[in-house]
Amino acid sequence: MSVKPGVLITGASTGIGAVYADRFAHRGHDLVLVARDRSRMEQLADRLRREARVRVDVLQADLTDERDLERVEQRLREDASIGVLVNNAGALTQGDFLAQSGGDLAGMIALNVTALTRLANAIAPRLAAAGEGSIVNIGSIVGLAPEIGLTVYGATKAFVLFLSQGLNLELGPKGVHVQAVLPSATRTEIWERSGRDVNALPASMSTGELVDAALVGFDRRETVTIPPLPDVGQWSALEAARQAMLPNFMQAHAAERYRSAA
Ligand code: NAP
Repeated sequence: MSVKPGVLITGASTGIGAVYADRFAHRGHDLVLVARDRSRMEQLADRLRREARVRVDVLQADLTDERDLERVEQRLREDASIGVLVNNAGALTQGDFLAQSGGDLAGMIALNVTALTRLANAIAPRLAAAGEGSIVNIGSIVGLAPEIGLTVYGATKAFVLFLSQGLNLELGPKGVHVQAVLPSATRTEIWERSGRDVNALPASMSTGELVDAALVGFDRRETVTIPPLPDVGQWSALEAARQAMLPNFMQAHAAERYRSAA
């Protein structure tokens, strides 16, 4: 038995999640891999068991399916060997807002928002009681940039950032570290799956470089890690500007500029 905490990674069959699995396995952590494609996860699990000599369980689940999601929640609640949750599974719908159907959007929100939140909610009480553990939520720089035009996807990622910051405030004092990772374009299947061409973008990162940078932030116990951002002072300035507003929100009267109709 490894003494390091086990890591449950969603969306571990390919892309960023599969690299997280590789890196945590080579750090000596046992793994639980979660996604829909069992054969891809079994192949990855075989390789990691051989290379890293860790225990790897495969949990096939469609996280937009209520019963599958409940099974993963139950595993997180009951398996005391899991001390890290990497909430990575995510999707991007095709087209722009006018072309997207309500059903497409509901599916994306179910995965990017509902499943991610419920899984964090399933593991958090156990980690808080233990006074240790981590929840890593994969957001996106799109959540900071409506200008990019991936509006509903970006809104789900803005949710992930807010959720992570709020949970860090709630759970941090109880010893639980919550990290939001905000990648920019990374070369994975998400682009092809959503009918987009990653090669048409001005720049994109490899999954290996992205995850290795995110793990540097993880080891530093950062709350927000933005691997591609060259000047962290820009993020700090945005946070400082937001926090400067906080004392001004609670008012008995509307601001002067709203006191006349003109
Ligand atoms: P990807 O290569 O498409 O991988 C997505 C993973 O999620 C796959 O393992 C997929 O496996 C799993 N998944 C999709 N739908 C699922 C469902 N209903 N239930 C369970 N698992 C499901 O994408 P990626 O780029 O690695 O994305 C990982 C995360 O990074 C996402 O949250 C994404 O939003 C975020 N991100 C990506 C980029 C980028 O440019 N690539 C940039 C910023 C943020 P199965 O198909 O086997 O289920």
